[in-house]
Amino acid sequence: SPILKIENLKAKVADEDLEILKGVDLTLDSGEIHAIMGPNGSGKSTLAKVLAGHPGYEVTGGSVTFKGEEILELEPDERSQAGIFLAFQYPVEIPGVSIANFLRTALQAQMGDDEEIDLFEFQDLLLDRMDLLDMDPAFAERPVNDGFSGGEKKRNEILQMACLKPSLALMDETDSGLDIDALRIVSNGVNKLREENPEMTVLLITHYQRLLNYIKPDYVHVMVDGRIVESGGPEVALQLEDEGYKDWTEVAPAGT
Ligand code: ADP
Ligand code: MG
Ligand code: MG
Repeated sequence: SPILKIENLKAKVADEDLEILKGVDLTLDSGEIHAIMGPNGSGKSTLAKVLAGHPGYEVTGGSVTFKGEEILELEPDERSQAGIFLAFQYPVEIPGVSIANFLRTALQAQMGDDEEIDLFEFQDLLLDRMDLLDMDPAFAERPVNDGFSGGEKKRNEILQMACLKPSLALMDETDSGLDIDALRIVSNGVNKLREENPEMTVLLITHYQRLLNYIKPDYVHVMVDGRIVESGGPEVALQLEDEGYKDWTEVAPAGT
């Protein structure tokens, strides 16, 4: 049975009359990797944010079920508690807060108020996760920093994902910021986490075909103007690399 089922999902910018998602249909079975590609402005990031419950968007139609339960009425933290992870951006510097403390806060939020994280257990978990990802433990002592390089941002995101152990990871990888270092961190991280837990499901949004050489998708979908217009296997990504999006749109192809 599907872990995530999106049916005719429509969404607009909150407080504005701007519809972005115009009827998205998508079904993910447990353990699958799905990639969504599409030209800039087609609604890919909006889909990820709507799935995570971002308050800047309003759902105007359709349904999203996760493990059989409707989630559109849930708050973002309730979705996280249910097992959905959205890789956060880190737009702010948090003075004096180390990555370790940041992760502990994220983990506590996922656990809810009923239970308090044991600090020793957290340290063990953190070391275990960093070991899995081949990360230097010193990284966790660094302050959360707006000036992180692309690679450092990705290291932080993947480490957070490894700590939270989601059953569904939503990853929105813009092409900017994915230098070769960042690309390796993301792909190694995802592949290690899936080796550990083959049931982890991944929805990987990118218009960077090259990423799919490192993280092999089971399915590739093309989003144009707020809808999925094509779905297939990895060959769809190769076709896009050769031909761009001209079959579906007049918009310039990816990478331009
Ligand atoms: P993609 O990730 O595919 O590049 P986005 O989901 O970021 O596309 O954006 C889809 C369209 O919606 C774009 O035209 C974008 O400008 C618009 N859009 C997204 N979010 C907002 C917002 N908060 N306010 C106004 N326009 C938005
Ligand atoms: Mg964009
Ligand atoms: Mg985007």
